[in-house]
Formats: sequence, structure tokens, C-alpha cells
Amino acid sequence: MRTLKNAEQLWSVIGSSTHIVIIGHVNPDGDAIGSISAMYHFLKQIGKHATAMVPNRFPDFLSCLNPDGEPVLIYRNDPEACNNIIAEADLIVCLDMSGPGRIDEMADAIIPASARKILIDHHLNPVTEAFDIVISDTEVSSTCELLLSLILDSPAISGDISLVSLECATSVAAGILTDTNNFANSIFPSTLEIFSLLLKRGIDRDYLYNEIFCSYSATRMELMGHLLSEKMTIIQNGTVAFIILDKADKEKFSFRTGDSEGFVNLPLKIREVRMSALLTEDDGFVKVSLRSKGTLDVNSFAREYCNGGGHRNASGGRLYIDISETAAYFTSSIEEYFKKA
Ligand code: 5GP
Ligand code: MN
Repeated sequence: MRTLKNAEQLWSVIGSSTHIVIIGHVNPDGDAIGSISAMYHFLKQIGKHATAMVPNRFPDFLSCLNPDGEPVLIYRNDPEACNNIIAEADLIVCLDMSGPGRIDEMADAIIPASARKILIDHHLNPVTEAFDIVISDTEVSSTCELLLSLILDSPAISGDISLVSLECATSVAAGILTDTNNFANSIFPSTLEIFSLLLKRGIDRDYLYNEIFCSYSATRMELMGHLLSEKMTIIQNGTVAFIILDKADKEKFSFRTGDSEGFVNLPLKIREVRMSALLTEDDGFVKVSLRSKGTLDVNSFAREYCNGGGHRNASGGRLYIDISETAAYFTSSIEEYFKKA
């Protein structure tokens, strides 16, 4: 689906704005931080200052982005100061989020804000009522890829990648690398074309690969081994695997935000497994991460059983149940889902 509704208005709206806030989704990943950072640097290049903000902390390895930029504000660290910035904004650019439901309590400040609102996103079924301009394209790897194609079409760049700053290009590359899991999924012809342009521009792919995929702590590696050997359950005749990460294990392995990034992909390396889930105990809910192979649709499973959504092969959601009930709930949900299918 391509709804490039009002894409042509994007740069004129940005051109007429002075107090710009750029935001991304809760538990920000490489695509959220990458697209925020890319937008920040591009706006700086065209003479616009912007404030970047996300609802909560993001993994340390993403600090490699935004090298000379201002730090991204964490809403939860100082809601009052962030609310003031949001209230004064005349433009809010929302990146890599399918709607206000993806920014938790920050939505209470964003939705009523008088600023014009732009959504740039690549998720299925975006919730768009709150936005003045919606640029939604699901036929791309990532928001970063979509954003760079928009930037290339902007009057300042006019298709000339050499005019894109290295900071902007590096941030875009980080989002593509993380959302495609180092080119393992969500690859479209445009993805490789855009990445080729980034390489021509001189991004350091080896550096990014090491920062994103080879920067584990020893305890994170140990947690991974523990979860695979002790906490992985395979059900549905060997086709579905789930891993439970509870608070006790988090504590035992000195868990830090981002430490479980990528774990959900591991069971998919088993030949017969077509769907994988990581169920993580959080404060007041269980965070669900879902991945699948081929045509198996985890987006519909996430919507129906996990209060969530996402993409066909990568989705997520939340369960408002105790971690001790999670295995039974997940197993019975899977049985019901596959019976219906
Ligand atoms: P992850 O497993 O990496 O946290 O999330 C994978 C994808 O699932 C995200 O890119 C996002 O599209 C979607 N997703 C994750 N959590 C939620 C959620 O709570 N609600 C919705 N609607 N989508 C989610
Ligand atoms: Mn994304």
C-alpha cells in the first residue's frame, strides 16, 4: 500500500515552520532513532532547528548516531519540560510509528497540541486521524528508507546523494540495517537502490555493523544462552517457539534496555519453526515480540491476541496478565489461531 497523501506539501510545511519537534515510538529501535536523527540533520542542513524526543530510553548502541547533534530528549525523564516544548511547537514530525498508540503517555501531550502534525511511517494499518499530512508506505524496508527517498525528492537535494550530509546518510543506513536485521528480511528493490546510494555517499557499513550487531556485553551473551537452553518452548508440532524472559532473569543477568534486541529471531533458525515469540515481563504488562517466516501473518495474531500489530513477519503487542500465566495463554491462543486458519 502506498498512501503518499500530500507528500508534495511536506517540504513547504516544513519550510514555513519554526518550532519543530521530531518524535518516534516507545522502546525506540534503530529505525526510530535513525529516522529521527536523519531528519534532525537534514533539517539542520536546510537551516531549521528541531528538538528530538522519544517516550523512553533507547539502547546504548544507538548513541553512535547523532554524533554532533543535540541529545534526543527522553519524555519520561522530564515530562513537564517536554510538555512545554510540545506546546510551543508549530510542527510535530512523527516517525516510524503507526499512530498515537505507539507513544504511550506522550500521546496526551501530542494529540491536543496546536502544532501541525506529519506522520512518516511504514507500518500496516496506520491510525491517521490526528495528522495533517500522512506519508505511509508499507512497500519499503523501514521509515529510514522512506525518509531518504523523500529527502532525495526535496528541493535542497534534487536527487543528488552527494548533497546529503554524512550524518544523515549514516542514520538512514542504521535504520535500514536494524529493520532488515542486516538484510535478512523486508528487502524491496528500492531498499538496495537506496543502500547503494548510501555506500556511494561514503557511509561506513563495517562500523555500523559492529556498533549494531557486535556490541553485546558478556552478560547479554550469557542471558541469550540461558534463554535458549532453559526458557525456549516449542509447540504446535514444532512450528512455533516462544521464549519467556522474566524479571528474575533480567536481574540475574544485569539486564539493560536493548539487551534482548534480536533474541526473538533466534528460534526461527530452527528449520521447522515458522513463528517465534519473545514474551518479556515489564511493569504491569508482558511485552510481546513476534516474528515469522514466509506467508505466516503475525500481524493478525498480534492484533487478535496481543493488543498490538505491526507487519506480516514482525509484530508486537502487550498482554495485561501475570508472567506466570503467559505460557498457558500464549499456547492456547496459538492453538485457537491455527485451528481457525
Ligand atoms: P518489536 O518486536 O521489535 O518490539 O516490534 C516489532 C514490530 O511490531 C514493530 O516494528 C511494530 O511495528 C510492532 N509493534 C511492537 N509493539 C507493538 C505494540 O505494542 N503495538 C502495536 N500496534 N505494534 C507494535
Ligand atoms: Mn521501522
